[in-house]
Amino acid sequence: MSLVIVGSLAFDTIETPFERRERIIGGSGTYCALAASFFTRPKVVGVVGRDFPRTAIGLLERRKVDLRGLQVKAGKTFHWEGRYGSDPNQRTTVRTDLNVFRDFQPLLPPSYRSADIVFLANIDPGLAGPVLNQLRRRPAIVALDTIRFWIETKPDALFRTLAGVDIFFANDEEVRLLAGEGNLIKAGRRLLGRGPRVLVVKKGEHGALVFTPDFVFGVLAHPCEDVVDPTGAGDSFAGGFLGSLDGAGRRGPAQIRRAAVCGSVVASFAIEDFGVERFKTLTRKEIETRYLGFKRLVSF
Ligand code: AMP
Repeated sequence: MSLVIVGSLAFDTIETPFERRERIIGGSGTYCALAASFFTRPKVVGVVGRDFPRTAIGLLERRKVDLRGLQVKAGKTFHWEGRYGSDPNQRTTVRTDLNVFRDFQPLLPPSYRSADIVFLANIDPGLAGPVLNQLRRRPAIVALDTIRFWIETKPDALFRTLAGVDIFFANDEEVRLLAGEGNLIKAGRRLLGRGPRVLVVKKGEHGALVFTPDFVFGVLAHPCEDVVDPTGAGDSFAGGFLGSLDGAGRRGPAQIRRAAVCGSVVASFAIEDFGVERFKTLTRKEIETRYLGFKRLVSF
């Protein structure tokens, strides 16, 4: 049992219709690792600059995230700025400063190289090969999440990487864009034909759809009255999903369905506060309670 997450650790500047927060802690790797830490002990591979605060490292350490794969480089940490309008499912990327992330060369410490699950979280698709080549054997699951930035700038590399991936996470807009097909179900089927055994289509406040060649599973999003900051919901979903799968050991249809619910539950907490704030107080008990609430929500 081991989950390796390769992703960004970042400063995010977030603007919602109600508030603006400058340079708060974010990043795909950060959200994903924190979310996964409620189910397993994730290992992170990433890079930050010397300006990345000790308190953020401390939060990850308290959640028992393995940081041996985190590089600290001279220079500035990756910075991303996003703006939300009145629809929390719609956001605009205002700027992306790659900084030390531009020349990121993921390096897996020896203790990471027998991973069962490797998750490539929003990173340059061209880095997939160099990451996977460092492993002693092929992991049971290679998972990938991507963003519009890579679909638009590196579609060929993305499709090449997708061919070797087991689980692909993408939101509905990305699935349509990548497949070149407006109907989500057809688009999903088309992407399943490009490599992954499981496609997880995230649909923001409408939950997620899990496509496999054998079944389709739908999971709702927890009905949330106060969405404070939707940033990181997708990464937290993936973290909860893969953390649950890693913790479960087995990876059959039942475990995949449960993983999707865990992903949805953790993501629903992440959006209750800005940045990673909610993870500072979140408990396993709260996750369990909401998980059980989910059962009641969907049974009839
Ligand atoms: P999500 O809201 O789950 O889609 O992910 C938001 C997170 O992705 C933010 O915390 C950003 O720091 C991070 N992010 C945005 N753009 C990139 C990028 N080009 N590469 C890696 N991470 C990114």
